[in-house]
Amino acid sequence: MDLDRLWQLTLTEVEAQISRANFYTWLKNSRLLEQKEGVFVISLPNNFAKEWVENKYHKLLLGIIREHDYSVKKLEFVVSGLVQEEVFVSKGAPKEAAQLENRMGLEFKIDPETNLNPRYSAKSFIVGAANELAYSAATAIIHEVGTKYNPFFVYGGVGLGKTHLIQMIGNEIMSVYGGKIRPRYVSSEKFTSDIVWAIRNKRMEDIKKKYRDVDLLIIDDIQFIGGKEKTEEEFFHTFNALYENNKQIIISSDRPPQSIPTLEERLRSRFEGGLIADVGYPEYEMRVAIIKNKLQETGQQLSEEVIDLVARKIKKNIRELEGVINKLIFLKEARRVEVDVKTAEEVVEKCVKSLSKRVSDDQILKAVAEFFNVSQGDLIEKGRKKEVVEPRQIAMYLLRDILDMSYPYIGEKLGRDHTTAIHAVDKISQEVNKNSSLSQKINLIKESIFKT
Ligand code: ADP
Ligand code: MG
Repeated sequence: MDLDRLWQLTLTEVEAQISRANFYTWLKNSRLLEQKEGVFVISLPNNFAKEWVENKYHKLLLGIIREHDYSVKKLEFVVSGLVQEEVFVSKGAPKEAAQLENRMGLEFKIDPETNLNPRYSAKSFIVGAANELAYSAATAIIHEVGTKYNPFFVYGGVGLGKTHLIQMIGNEIMSVYGGKIRPRYVSSEKFTSDIVWAIRNKRMEDIKKKYRDVDLLIIDDIQFIGGKEKTEEEFFHTFNALYENNKQIIISSDRPPQSIPTLEERLRSRFEGGLIADVGYPEYEMRVAIIKNKLQETGQQLSEEVIDLVARKIKKNIRELEGVINKLIFLKEARRVEVDVKTAEEVVEKCVKSLSKRVSDDQILKAVAEFFNVSQGDLIEKGRKKEVVEPRQIAMYLLRDILDMSYPYIGEKLGRDHTTAIHAVDKISQEVNKNSSLSQKINLIKESIFKT
């Protein structure tokens, strides 16, 4: 297996085992550089990340790599040496700079001009009820860039296809207009670090040019700029400059604008002035279609029973769905394991377990109590205080949703009987699909549960 594939697989598994915040902070820009006689060299973007990963994740990484490649004896960590300053100082030529940046990342074919990854194509994007609205808006934008839905704000949970969708718009525009309309994609973390760099080096003009001299600006995961005043400020001006010139702006976030707590009001109202669409959980048929499409793209096969099993079990994250399929393909191809329903069950089980094992029932109760500003005791108390009814039902729902706890156990945990638990879980499960304010609350609570 080539090193990039091996690293991708490794990261998929690491991502399932550590918190999202940690994954983002420490491993997102890592790479498996080379391997020689069993020594695998992993590069990290800076010294800080190197030390951290070396100390905290050495064992985990070694274990996962070993599962895929028996020849590994030892891991070595290096700093890739390409700190941001050098990238820019290497003077002017934005193209070279971008190429350097990209070499640090995981993907190699990223277009240095647009920063788009061609992997996110329209062909590989499956449309279903969960993303229909967002997809049709995307299609409309491709045909009427800048005038139809501007800005376009898409939001939804992790691994549900936001990045794919917004990059796809850029890729399609490149292919339809042959470069006459120039997109640029950037994550909001990268945007922030560019601003920080520009301030430190007094190069604000370069950054202004970089982001304003485009026809379409795509910003991913905008929630991360909330509370970073200087970045918000600069983004606001960039936004206005582009908007006034009928340039298209596309933004993604893990939640709707009104739920990004620290976002400045003026930015929020700008976002709300365009089209807002969400992407939700894919339904069963869509999950099957995604799996089949992926198998076809990679020229692989798995039995219908296995596909059905994976699609039934992994419901809430397309990245996980892909992770499980990758793992199964790997077992089949590299390990020559016969992938039957039993093997698939084991792989799914492991994936689901590793996601939930770090969270305890008490952590969930604590997060719910904190969110609603009540005490944990209030949640359990026998009384019928009205203001704790919803928090208690949500707590029950989350115990079931995250930990898959039995109803009697949930009941016991909250001092109720199991029928109350069933009632609460059913009620919230039904409402969460219809009531967006409830689903936002639940997402925010989950965020806080998985944050540390
Ligand atoms: P997000 O940005 O919402 O966290 P991503 O766009 O990174 O999610 O999607 C996670 C993975 O799932 C990616 O590999 C992506 O290609 C795949 N994916 C997401 N949505 C779809 C879809 N509708 N059809 C096919 N693949 C998808
Ligand atoms: Mg994303």
